[in-house]
Amino acid sequence: MTDCIFCRIIKGEIPSQTLFEDETVFAFKDIQPQAPVHFLVITKQHFSSLNEVDAPSMKLFTDLFQVAKTVAHQLGIGEKGYRCVVNTNREGGQSVYHLHLHVLGGAQLGPSMVG
Ligand code: 5GP
Ligand code: ZN
Repeated sequence: MTDCIFCRIIKGEIPSQTLFEDETVFAFKDIQPQAPVHFLVITKQHFSSLNEVDAPSMKLFTDLFQVAKTVAHQLGIGEKGYRCVVNTNREGGQSVYHLHLHVLGGAQLGPSMVG
């Protein structure tokens, strides 16, 4: 989608600190990190939110989690631990409507999931 900020990042029209890229998945550092390590893993295919992913496409999540795990290890937080979050729609706190997996770590994260 031409007006989607994450599609534009994938195309290189908006610069990002890229951490991983293959045919289907792209990972980059979050511009406003909420933890010492905070990156986003996205599918190159545009889905507005998790709600738009039908059952056959759900297998893309296998790739998203695989990349999340691999990059977390590359950044040195794999064994200490990290958190994966998918915000969905307004009350879920979603602000960019291109489905993305947040990966947060590098410090002891609080127990609250809803802060
Ligand atoms: P959401 O609130 O939709 O779950 O998360 C969107 C995330 O995208 C936020 O953490 C925000 O900091 C990040 N973000 C928004 N615009 C940009 C950008 O242009 N570049 C990067 N690297 N991250 C962005
Ligand atoms: Zn998009």
